[in-house]
Amino acid sequence: MKLTICHLYPDLLDLYGDRGNIIALAARCRWRGIEPVIKQASLGEDLDFMGMDILFIGGGSDREQGLLVQDLMRRENELRTAIENGLVVLLICGGYQMLGKYYQMANGERINGLGILDVWTIAGVERLIGNVVVQLDERLSGIDSSKFKTLVGFENHSGQTHLGEGVSPLGNVLFGHGNNGGDGGEGVRYLNVFGTYLHGPLLPKNPHFADLLLELAMQRRGADTCLLKLDDHLEEAAHKAMVKRLLKQA
Ligand code: GLN
Repeated sequence: MKLTICHLYPDLLDLYGDRGNIIALAARCRWRGIEPVIKQASLGEDLDFMGMDILFIGGGSDREQGLLVQDLMRRENELRTAIENGLVVLLICGGYQMLGKYYQMANGERINGLGILDVWTIAGVERLIGNVVVQLDERLSGIDSSKFKTLVGFENHSGQTHLGEGVSPLGNVLFGHGNNGGDGGEGVRYLNVFGTYLHGPLLPKNPHFADLLLELAMQRRGADTCLLKLDDHLEEAAHKAMVKRLLKQA
């Protein structure tokens, strides 16, 4: 079996090595005998959203977000159709903000988003920076909750994101700021779209979440979603040690 994983704007939105999420997904495919087909596209390059299984958009500075907004707008209809058709999407920070309604930057300038996610972002006075622990929402079925009930990572954003109707957070912040440092939520889920402020990269630190994305992509293809269990004891130990250390600080 093959899974096509696409990194959109790898040259512009790759803050803090977010491409590590692509590397983690590809490795967890190979370790199971699934062939990952990795594609990339940036400004002016065409993409077939319906022909891919997982789309990834990473984080970036306000400047980079401004550089790509017109190109992203050109892709709205095809991306919206694919998302409504169940395309699995992982969005980190800037990528997350850009699928919302808008991002109003610290200088007051507003970058319009695609409006696919009912979220909006307004830059706060302080940047929200630091390690984060999130208690995952129970509705995120498919996650191997026997091992992991949390997400860990770090955040560095000025944007404070607020959620509207029809979307839900990935979970509640146990340590750190999350979406906006106020409502206690972190990230967003809409259909098979997952947005989060967690860099790290996210997926190597949270292999259960990587497997959820792979399971959803396989389900959408009508394939058997019983992923071979991998030996995650090292990831599990590191994850739990981080949770323990940070919650002692909480
Ligand atoms: N430029 C955006 C902000 O500052 C996103 C930052 C990021 O992707 N880490 O909120």
